Amino acid sequence: MELPFAESWRIKMVEPIKKSTREEREQWMKEADYNLFQLRSEQVYIDCLTDSGTGAMSDRQWAAVMMGDESYAGSTSFFHLKETINKITGFEYVIPTHQGRAAENVLFSHLVKAGSIVPGNSHFDTTKGHIESRKATALDCTIDEAKDTQLEIPFKGNVDPKKLEKALAEHHENVPFIIVTITNNTAGGQPVSMQNLREVRAIADKYGKRVVLDSARFAENAYFIKTREEGYADKTIKEIALEMFSLADGMTMSAKKDGIVNMGGFIATRHEDWYEGAKRFCIPFEGYLTYGGMNGRDMEALAVGLDENTEFDNLETRIHQVEFLAGLLDEYGIPYQRPVGGHAIFVDADKVLTKVPKEEFPAQTLAIELYLEAGVRGCEIGYILADRDPVTRENRFGGLDLLRLCIARRVYTDNHMRVIAAALKNVFDRRNEITRGVEIVWETELMRHFTVKLKKLF
Ligand SMILES: *Cc1c(COP(=O)(O)O)cnc(C)c1O
Repeated sequence: MELPFAESWRIKMVEPIKKSTREEREQWMKEADYNLFQLRSEQVYIDCLTDSGTGAMSDRQWAAVMMGDESYAGSTSFFHLKETINKITGFEYVIPTHQGRAAENVLFSHLVKAGSIVPGNSHFDTTKGHIESRKATALDCTIDEAKDTQLEIPFKGNVDPKKLEKALAEHHENVPFIIVTITNNTAGGQPVSMQNLREVRAIADKYGKRVVLDSARFAENAYFIKTREEGYADKTIKEIALEMFSLADGMTMSAKKDGIVNMGGFIATRHEDWYEGAKRFCIPFEGYLTYGGMNGRDMEALAVGLDENTEFDNLETRIHQVEFLAGLLDEYGIPYQRPVGGHAIFVDADKVLTKVPKEEFPAQTLAIELYLEAGVRGCEIGYILADRDPVTRENRFGGLDLLRLCIARRVYTDNHMRVIAAALKNVFDRRNEITRGVEIVWETELMRHFTVKLKKLF
């Protein structure tokens, strides 16, 4: 008999989580104005809000915490982190920051000017925010196939080389760099192939431009290259990561994802001029260059996390769990964005709650129903998140309306995945009885999803 798949770790410390009753959840949801961000975490049984900063550190990482050197300048922990990043990425210069958006803020303060155009695949919200707040444009050149939620292709996060070439032909004077997000979070945690990174490099070289990798999930991207792209099956994750970064000039990193720490980030680059330029903004925004917003102990834990999460076994356990949950949804016929990406499942709420009008926010309604059903917290990535059109002030119903279920790294077991899937199935089975959604009673102008207050219409 073939042995079943099992996790590449065992558990040494546990954190109890509590179930609740439906009556309790109904009360809590009402008190939270039907906004899942407003719940207290102890009111949640299984938390799939985000995979950012929610991972479980290993025994080696916790041991490294004790070795943190908290010196203001010249911290040994900084040099441990820098050497690890040098080894994994090949980038010589490293600036630590308190998280990924801070890395963007520091690097873009040097590189992005009013009128700049920054092409790439789909820009993450904060990346776009840091570009647009500088009166510059984030130009999305993702392949069109990414928009078809049911199309199964291996590298749905890719940049469309034709769109990129066109962008550079038209705007190259105003392009400070190209940014490729690996994996493509906005498109559903979809990977970018090595071949595509090579194509981007060639176009960049043709126009004399540099390439930044937004690398929050670079290790998961390397896993997909190893398992899906021809010629990489026998390479290690570390070899693949080094090759990916060899095709770029620098990176911004949210260490809260593939660094498996609860807080942290960094910039790394091979170019001294970028380092010198970014340095000037690190000191006022983040702190001195050998800590830049991080504790010594956090830099130690990150160095170990980067090393561990660029090992195949760790990544295989993680991606396998996400695929396991997707397999259960397949079994129950629940539609989600295909193929499943690295860190989350995006349930296609428009296709589930077909009776709920767009104006009543189907994905948010599904998120509320799932929470009421079993205390599982997901996150709406849909019409509420899309905010209003800045000119007409109308809601934007043009995009997708998804319920995102993020899987934290090394936190839940496959039994928790079974609970999530069963809860979703129970809601799915009574989808035709759900005919009303929610109404906004209070909202902010930008990023309203964090604080929006809603009224339930059912
Ligand atoms: C999370 C994330 C960021 C921002 O990082 P924070 O650590 O949350 O500030 C940037 N890009 C991508 C692709 C991300 O997933």
